[in-house]
Amino acid sequence: MPRKPTSAQAAVPSVDRVLRAPAVVALAAVHGRVSTRDAVRETLAELRAEIARDGASADAGAAIETVSDRTASRLAAAAQSTLRPVFNLTGTVLHTNLGRAIIPEAAIEAMVRAARAPVSLEYDVRRGRRGDRDSHLDALLCRLCGAEAATVVNNNAAAVMLILNTLALRRDVPVSRGELIEIGGAFRMPDIMARAGARLIEVGTTNRTHLEDYAAALGPRTALIMKVHTSNYVIEGFTACVPEKALGALAHDHGLPFAVDLGSGSLVDLRRFGLAHEPTAAEVLDAGADLVCFSADKLLGGPQAGVIAGRRALIARIKRNPMRRAMRLDKIAIAGLEATLRLYLDPERLVRALPTLRHMARPPEEIAALAGRLALRIAAALGQSVQVDCAPAESQVGSGALPSSRLPSTAVVIRARVRRRGAGAALARIESAFRALPVPVIGRVHDAALWLDARCLDDEDAFAAQLDQLSAG
Ligand SMILES: *Cc1c(COP(=O)(O)O)cnc(C)c1O
Repeated sequence: MPRKPTSAQAAVPSVDRVLRAPAVVALAAVHGRVSTRDAVRETLAELRAEIARDGASADAGAAIETVSDRTASRLAAAAQSTLRPVFNLTGTVLHTNLGRAIIPEAAIEAMVRAARAPVSLEYDVRRGRRGDRDSHLDALLCRLCGAEAATVVNNNAAAVMLILNTLALRRDVPVSRGELIEIGGAFRMPDIMARAGARLIEVGTTNRTHLEDYAAALGPRTALIMKVHTSNYVIEGFTACVPEKALGALAHDHGLPFAVDLGSGSLVDLRRFGLAHEPTAAEVLDAGADLVCFSADKLLGGPQAGVIAGRRALIARIKRNPMRRAMRLDKIAIAGLEATLRLYLDPERLVRALPTLRHMARPPEEIAALAGRLALRIAAALGQSVQVDCAPAESQVGSGALPSSRLPSTAVVIRARVRRRGAGAALARIESAFRALPVPVIGRVHDAALWLDARCLDDEDAFAAQLDQLSAG
């Protein structure tokens, strides 16, 4: 009888032997030799450790197939980006954690073009000399906002910082106590103002601020008056705030600029699409604001950016601030924003062209029909262990836009069919099974069920095609 190896670990094959196996040669052709060799080494080390711990049979460890299978999984996991496409069935159209606006197709094409080849980013092709990267957006923004001048930075937080740092460094800025917002991700207006070097002068109270409160706060150190759109909450009941027109007039009486942080900043009147009214940049400038700033990846529906629009002299000062260099847009974002803004020149086709608007304005009966089809397919995939229904749901716009608007929608509602004590764990398994799909499905757990709001689902077939991989235990 042949002698058994003295140690099971000795039976683990050598790296070289594994690398010669046909299956592993094939892996190397896909993943490269260096990564494959490293993965084989890691797999073998893992096997040796397992054998040492569990005394697993040497034969199992020695099998080249075991090593190559594990190496394949290891390489596949390492090759997968952590930035993955997902299905957003949360019911929040502009979900900050899921990347906010879906970029319109025209903008995607423009971004790819700008990525692929040199572009005239800061080069005036006509004159053959240096140009300005804002020049690609200036005219469009001025036209769409009704502004004299405009500039763009990395996001709206940067826009707020730059306005304050340029116009209010070491000076006072009165802001209503009702507008000292915090939005997700540690953006707090008082903190931003402090870092921008401006002194916040709180005026009024949480629920009521009057024109006299602002007037009393003005002094020789005042740099500007600022109004902040309360984008992610509403104050209801016994409330008062000062409209833009009156605040602008007060500022101008004192020779001060009036700036508005609009947050979402729509470029069109959303009532045209059956949605609630959100002040547009043009309306705010028209009401007397000298500067307005807003995000490009919220209601506007484009790539991440912050727009500042308003008076020419103020924009010129802002553009001269050396800090702007730290906040400037790259060629890809500029290309995407330009293409997105061009879509607004044809409002008739906007709903079709702009995914954000299409999702917000999607007819409820279309969503209900889609949810009905999804429910059937999900029920078929999950079998008897779950109960699948359709139920009315309320979507929201998200990202601090139209905070009190609820958009009537329909969700597929999935419940585990188990006795109450196991229900929590069973629901958690269902939820994680959807997240474990090749394109993870992100829903919302509510009322002991998983809710999949159908509003933002575009590719029904791709969604359905992966359902057979659901294994909800
Ligand atoms: C969203 C928002 C911001 C921050 O905008 P980002 O583009 O996320 O940087 C600032 N102010 C208000 C009022 C907002 O709603």
